[in-house]
Amino acid sequence: MTVLCELCGKRSAKYVCQECGRRVCQYCFNTYYEVCSNCLKNIGERAELLSIEEGINVDWMLKFVIIGFVIMFLGMVIITLASLMTVSDASGTFFIFIGPIPIIFGYGPHASYLLILSILIFVIFLFLFFYWYKQGSAEKIEA
Ligand SMILES: [Zn+2]
Ligand SMILES: [Zn+2]
Repeated sequence: MTVLCELCGKRSAKYVCQECGRRVCQYCFNTYYEVCSNCLKNIGERAELLSIEEGINVDWMLKFVIIGFVIMFLGMVIITLASLMTVSDASGTFFIFIGPIPIIFGYGPHASYLLILSILIFVIFLFLFFYWYKQGSAEKIEA
């Protein structure tokens, strides 16, 4: 005697759901999670919530730290270039990134130009960063 799938009631049951214990056919069963298609929805929602939480806590902080280092490095490059260009009157800008808040200050007679340049680089990187983040989260949902 064959047991019919408890979800569709058409095909013979071959698997048992690890979540609710329903006996289901191969079409109503997900072999990866070992659950029926009914329970898969709940698992999918839970996994999505988890990935969103992780995305905010880990990914954002990590990316802010990385981008902070990149901007600090660029700031140093600007200072070096400025001192090479003007040996007599050295100018520079400093870029300190505390979380999402950038702190910028400059010195020397060319500080204002360097400051504008730094802000431009910062804005470009901010756009790249958000583009990068958007792509990253899109991939996560697809997977
Ligand atoms: Zn079925
Ligand atoms: Zn189930």
